[in-house]
Amino acid sequence: MLILGGTTEARHLAEALAAQPHRLHVTTSLAGRVTHPTRPPGDTRIGGFGGPDGLADWLRAHAVDAVVDATHPFAERMSFNAAAACAATGVPLLALRRPAWTPSPGDDWHHVPTLAAAAAALPALGRRAFLTTGRTGLAAFAHLDGTWFLARSVDAPTAPAPRHTEVLLARGPFTLDGERELIREHRIDVLVTKASGGSATAPKLAAAREAGIPVLVVDRPPVPGGVPVAASAEAAASWLLPY
Ligand code: NAP
Repeated sequence: MLILGGTTEARHLAEALAAQPHRLHVTTSLAGRVTHPTRPPGDTRIGGFGGPDGLADWLRAHAVDAVVDATHPFAERMSFNAAAACAATGVPLLALRRPAWTPSPGDDWHHVPTLAAAAAALPALGRRAFLTTGRTGLAAFAHLDGTWFLARSVDAPTAPAPRHTEVLLARGPFTLDGERELIREHRIDVLVTKASGGSATAPKLAAAREAGIPVLVVDRPPVPGGVPVAASAEAAASWLLPY
């Protein structure tokens, strides 16, 4: 089995498979973006495959019986590569996609299609932004000199950052108390997030609701069609069992 990972759900799937009595050989693949990734049980491999053709070669060379694309909802390229490689090799593919967040009463969410659109909309919504779009997302905001940013990421950003940026290095899961405190301490008046879904980073949304501040939500990119979807690691583990 090959799990395309880099998410909490991918790790949970590897853990669920490791806990089962049958003897599936599971490899989790990580892109290598994070310096010290949390390693799941089973084998891990790190680094790109070299596009869909490279992934197809890897599937053949390792006699892979099934692939689970458990990458982040914003890892668009890898999901399309997986669909192409599995179609070319005839290896069954499942997408493990965490459900998207849905707004609650009191939320003031503003949906935008891209990070660039978020940067264009931001100045009208606030002047002190909590930016949680990851270190590669920072560059899209680099030209906004009039906004102060608290930019949270797992590793230090290397891309150009806005002039007034404080970087906060942290890895989820995050707590409501912690998110509340960050918003208070830094006098945050707008939150920027990708529509990632999942529980690990959801408390920031409740904290924003409590504080009465707007949230800029970058909507998910498109996914390849025709791929069956599981919404939880448990559902994906059940799908894998016949293999
Ligand atoms: P991406 O744009 O879809 O992928 C870019 C390239 O990175 C792919 O073409 C592939 O290289 C390689 N790659 C991506 N995921 C891989 C994996 N699991 N194993 C091996 N190679 C992989 O992806 P991304 O947005 O840069 O995300 C990279 C990783 O970070 C993913 O594993 C994702 O789950 C995780 N992640 C992403 C985000 C996010 O917001 N994008 C957030 C949290 C975690 P080749 O073409 O050479 O195979």
